Amino acid sequence: MKQLLWINGQYVETEKYNELKGPFGQEKIADVAMASENDVLNAISAAEEATLKMAELTSHQRAEILEKVAGLLKDNREECARIIAKEAAKPIKAARTEVDRTIMTYKFAANEARRIHGETVPMDAAPGGEGRLAFTVREPLGVIGAITPFNFPMNLVAHKVGPAVAAGNTVVLKPASQTPLSAYKIAEYFHEAGLPSGALNVVSGSGSKVGDVLMKDNRIKMITFTGSPEVGKYIRENSGLKRVTLELGSNSGVIVDEGVNLEKAVPRIVTGAFAYQGQVCISVQRIYVHENIFDTFVELFLQETRKLKLGDPLHEDTDISALISKNDFDRTKDWVNEAVENGAVLASGGESREGVFTPTVLLNASPKDKVSCEEAFAPIVHINKFKTVDEAIGMVNESKYGLQAGIFTNDINKALKAAKKLEVGGVMINEIPTFRVDQMPYGGVKLSGMGREGIKYAVEEMTELKLISFKTE
Ligand code: NAP
Repeated sequence: MKQLLWINGQYVETEKYNELKGPFGQEKIADVAMASENDVLNAISAAEEATLKMAELTSHQRAEILEKVAGLLKDNREECARIIAKEAAKPIKAARTEVDRTIMTYKFAANEARRIHGETVPMDAAPGGEGRLAFTVREPLGVIGAITPFNFPMNLVAHKVGPAVAAGNTVVLKPASQTPLSAYKIAEYFHEAGLPSGALNVVSGSGSKVGDVLMKDNRIKMITFTGSPEVGKYIRENSGLKRVTLELGSNSGVIVDEGVNLEKAVPRIVTGAFAYQGQVCISVQRIYVHENIFDTFVELFLQETRKLKLGDPLHEDTDISALISKNDFDRTKDWVNEAVENGAVLASGGESREGVFTPTVLLNASPKDKVSCEEAFAPIVHINKFKTVDEAIGMVNESKYGLQAGIFTNDINKALKAAKKLEVGGVMINEIPTFRVDQMPYGGVKLSGMGREGIKYAVEEMTELKLISFKTE
């Protein structure tokens, strides 16, 4: 299969193509277009011209397009799940869940398209403001440059394209090089659903090359980026006065207090730690357990971890498959070795089986070990003890990241204290930090990013507020 670029409503050839291989088994999937600078400029021109066509669409027409895309995804659920499973090595069960979430994301975008509104402003609240009727409207920004990561290749594209189209913007999308096929599939669905040509363009290619063109071009009004903190920082520093939202990484922590129902909590936390091989931005990476229940917790956690099935992402019962790249595999191994050399106990995992990194549980890792203080993005978790919830909150906060955190407790006062003191974008009480539904505000503090997604909140980021004031006397 040859995957061309998608510019101005059609597939377009380019000069260079790269071989795309599935991370599990390394079989060839496609030859994928590597956009040149000129291709990206053509995509930006198409997107700019399409802003006029988008401006002619009413909000109910934009909503109908988004609803149709949700419908097409529903009709082709299995095909979409298999694309994700192959290019990302995401176990097919998880890939289907991602498609279902993507459908919800576009449905929420359709709902949001119908209710973008401003508010009246009481101008006479200030002396001199009398005799005026004033209100705000939200206008589209224009062309948005969207850059997406490999780990949710359909739903994270939806979190950018959904709100952008809902608000009447146009998009140049640069998907991750390992997972471009999901993005091209979505472009086809938007075309079929009636989105004007040029309103969504997809340009696969080198991140830095395509990214630099998007950042330098003044016709791009906003960059919306999801990915690693290193790239996010580079984008923030090189985008001039463009609006920028950054959804970056984390090393999410969860606190488990004494007295909670471990039979219920442990399986949830195992899911949060190992779903999609731990390659989720809100994967549970650090677990802090009250000292009185530590041994029982660890035993149950290991029991539950042993139930996970490793292997081919296309097999129905697979829970964990290959990491996204050989480099990530090697890095993961090095980090586990470092922690063990520094005194952590390897309670489970730390090896390779058929090229799959086994789910790894470390006990008492030091906060200075990379498995603790950096983002692991791999099936590694560590479990440490605490005496008081105050101490545990401090441990979770001892991080350069702050995306989401969780606490399991039966004590309302401890829960409320954690809600107040945890330095994160979202606190999950009696839930894993990995919990997300697609309409909730989502984003981080510290190195985890700036700005919020979740359709309503992304629409706010992707629109300009304009004030209109009528002088009535
Ligand atoms: P990544 O390496 O930062 O890549 C993300 C995207 O940026 C890819 O499309 C990549 O293209 C592109 N890119 C690379 N270098 C660039 C540059 N110099 N300028 C502009 N774009 C560039 O991240 P990843 O490995 O795909 O994804 C994992 C990271 O994403 C983790 O840190 C994870 O926590 C984070 N993440 C955050 C959220 C969130 O909502 N907070 C959600 C999911 C993932 P290439 O693929 O061509 O390199």
